[in-house]
Amino acid sequence: MKQKLLLASCNKKKLKELRELFDMPTIEIVSLNDFDDIVEVQEDGETFEENALKKAQGYARQTRCLTLADDSGLCVDHLGGKPGVFSARYAGVDKDDKSNCNKVLTEMKDCPRHKRTARFVAVVALAEPNKVIGVVRGECEGEIAPEACGNNGFGYDPIFYYRPFGATFGEIDPAKKHAVSHRAQALEKAKVLLQEYMR
Ligand code: IMP
Repeated sequence: MKQKLLLASCNKKKLKELRELFDMPTIEIVSLNDFDDIVEVQEDGETFEENALKKAQGYARQTRCLTLADDSGLCVDHLGGKPGVFSARYAGVDKDDKSNCNKVLTEMKDCPRHKRTARFVAVVALAEPNKVIGVVRGECEGEIAPEACGNNGFGYDPIFYYRPFGATFGEIDPAKKHAVSHRAQALEKAKVLLQEYMR
């Protein structure tokens, strides 16, 4: 019998990426769209770990499935780690990417180049209804660009300058970003966790 794995997201892009990565013969992937009457788990923790774990456990308990959940965001050193867990709603309205980028650019206006270091962070948690299997983290180091460049990706990609590519994530091909991204790193580690769990 196949092991059911719930990917705790309704975001189609995320689900596609996750389905590709966790495409294993012994696993049947389901999403929150496959269940009725699910109560949304609030992301009100103070850390990415807290939020990812809260979601993984919350949805595992509601569905009785092994569940994988993630939380991610941008941490800027000069801003004391902000936007951090508030990344999606930094400028006030949830998922207003342009306003979020503009807010960070304004706050970084007088910051010299050598102090513009930042990182994208992704945390993935894997849990059963009554047991935490593990929590893993991926990070991708970069700098806040002086202005937004490029239209690729989402969120803070246009203002995230990645030195090895000499460009912002908004300017590069998404496949190139996925090869080095915080999310890809966290998901690779989660895949190892899952393989150990299956053994
Ligand atoms: P969530 O993990 O889907 O809640 O994402 C939180 C927020 O972090 C997103 O809405 C984006 O603003 C930001 N974020 C997370 N990952 C990325 C990324 O790969 N590129 C750009 N922004 C990101």
